[in-house]
Amino acid sequence: MDLRIGNGLDFHRLKTDPSRPLLLGGYEIASELALEGHSDADVVLHALADALLGAIGQGDIGQHFPDSDESLKNLDSRKIVNFALGLVREHGFRIANIDLTLVGEKPRVAVHRDAIRASLAGILGLDVTRIGFKATTTEKMGALGRSEGVACLATVLLVSLTPAE
Ligand SMILES: [Zn+2]
Repeated sequence: MDLRIGNGLDFHRLKTDPSRPLLLGGYEIASELALEGHSDADVVLHALADALLGAIGQGDIGQHFPDSDESLKNLDSRKIVNFALGLVREHGFRIANIDLTLVGEKPRVAVHRDAIRASLAGILGLDVTRIGFKATTTEKMGALGRSEGVACLATVLLVSLTPAE
């Protein structure tokens, strides 16, 4: 069996903007807070897409979806993940499991953990038992500790669709 591992790391600034949805893993959390960005700024989906692209050596999301492209403004990040997933399949792989860690003081996501996992399961067509989602803080240290932003770290493991010769 051929295996590939990939990691992704993404950061977005956090601000108060009741008019902008706060999306994590494609799940909308009711909040006054929102993540800033050119796209919908779903930091979880961006880290995940980068991990998928990294696992198959296909660059990063900035390469495929440049910030300079005005047509991508407020882009639904599920499209980015679907694009990466398409490349994964083209390369002859499927996801074995993913593991995600969100880093920041706000928003509090513990109560949303299962909803976020369910959202990811739907986007990826994967059983929830193959999706890990954790959250941690920086113990109030640094920019993330001052709630200036949120980071997400993603790890994916891919397995080949066909057994290796
Ligand atoms: Zn991003």
